[in-house]
Amino acid sequence: MTDTDLHDALRAGVRALCERYPGSYWRDLDERRAYPEGFVRAMTEAGYLSALIPPEYGGGGLGVTEASIILEEVNRSGGNAGACHAQMYTMGTVLRHGSEEQKRRYLAEIAKGSLRLQSFGVTEPDAGSDTLSISTSAVRDGDVYIVNGQKIWNSRAEYSDLMLLLVRTTPKAEVQRRTEGLSVFLVEIRSSLGKGLTIQPIKTMLNHFTTQVFFEDLQVPAENLVGEEGQGFRYILDGMNAERVLIAAECIGDGDWFIEKATAYAKGRQVFGRPIGQNQGVQFPIAQAYARIRAADLMRYKAAALFDAGQPCGPEANMAKLLGAEASWEAANVCLQTHGGFGFAREFDIERKFRETRLYQVAPVSTNLILAYLGQNVLGMPRSY
Ligand SMILES: Cc1cc2nc3c(=O)[nH]c(=O)nc-3n(C[C@H](O)[C@H](O)[C@H](O)COP(=O)(O)OP(=O)(O)OC[C@H]3O[C@@H](n4cnc5c(N)ncnc54)[C@H](O)[C@@H]3O)c2cc1C
Repeated sequence: MTDTDLHDALRAGVRALCERYPGSYWRDLDERRAYPEGFVRAMTEAGYLSALIPPEYGGGGLGVTEASIILEEVNRSGGNAGACHAQMYTMGTVLRHGSEEQKRRYLAEIAKGSLRLQSFGVTEPDAGSDTLSISTSAVRDGDVYIVNGQKIWNSRAEYSDLMLLLVRTTPKAEVQRRTEGLSVFLVEIRSSLGKGLTIQPIKTMLNHFTTQVFFEDLQVPAENLVGEEGQGFRYILDGMNAERVLIAAECIGDGDWFIEKATAYAKGRQVFGRPIGQNQGVQFPIAQAYARIRAADLMRYKAAALFDAGQPCGPEANMAKLLGAEASWEAANVCLQTHGGFGFAREFDIERKFRETRLYQVAPVSTNLILAYLGQNVLGMPRSY
């Protein structure tokens, strides 16, 4: 099978699965703020969420390019991959830095879907984007680490068995380099609830199942430390390029969904005796948004190809996420405007997708932080932080 055949087959397969979960399914969940359990189960059983897990652990052994196509198609269909995208890539930290014992114990179960690792605990209320200032701590006590602190915006924690948690194991004042002294743990959520772990949902403008998580003397077995103590920040950064590319693909899926809706409506809606799309004031913004999506898509494929070839791809992955998030937002805005009043009616799904795609400019990393990375790390301008 050539790459093109594989990609076409993946697209067709995901599209067919998504047809079973139409706009009405997502709209209903959105109204009830409920988790798309049936959709996530179907994606798991079809093997899509284990695409990045190597075959020796029961996964698909595919690359980020293919994984990105899967998530893109979910959003392109009108759904929202945010419900389960982290099940695909959070395991990358265990795969790249975990012990053989951890890989054998967890990856096969994650590939089967009998374990969900889709909760990622990095952000804290006081530190925000300044990840190196997190203060949730883990202190070694014999065979366990004692964890204390708080995370915020920990998405899907209620629908996950495992949490990948970044904590401080050496106080900031005692490390030589700011990037040292942080460690990554796998926390078993179910057995920790009520024993030092509390999860509180946060209501947001979109259906994203995000939470705040409190740790009070939670005991985490020392064997759940991933990699070396103190090196966790590096491990988390390692996984971020894949995440950026996958999120860019979701944005592109959203963007194309908005363009298709806007175009169809512009062709069909008659006002002043002609289709609104005949007016260049309506037509050009759609064409402009379309061009921006295609440009972002090129950067997404470039970043994915570099990642899959094992080449450095930080600038490309960040630019793909930046351009993708901007393009999907522009397309959302244009689609809403093209629909006039009907854009606000829930039954068209536009207002839901509009709210959903807006998130990508803030999470998983905000646009300004990407610009700072490009300005400082790529272009060598003075650091602002
Ligand atoms: C729905 C949702 C789901 C999320 N899911 C997760 C998750 O699963 N796990 C997780 O760990 N986190 C998650 N996050 C957190 C997300 O990654 C952060 O919200 C994001 O990184 C921004 O951090 P902050 O909200 O603390 O904003 P802040 O850091 O407080 O920043 C606020 C604003 O100021 C800007 N800013 C800050 N510093 C600078 C600077 N030096 N220069 C220029 N601009 C600056 C930012 O760009 C931002 O626009 C989620 C967030 C949301 C809203």
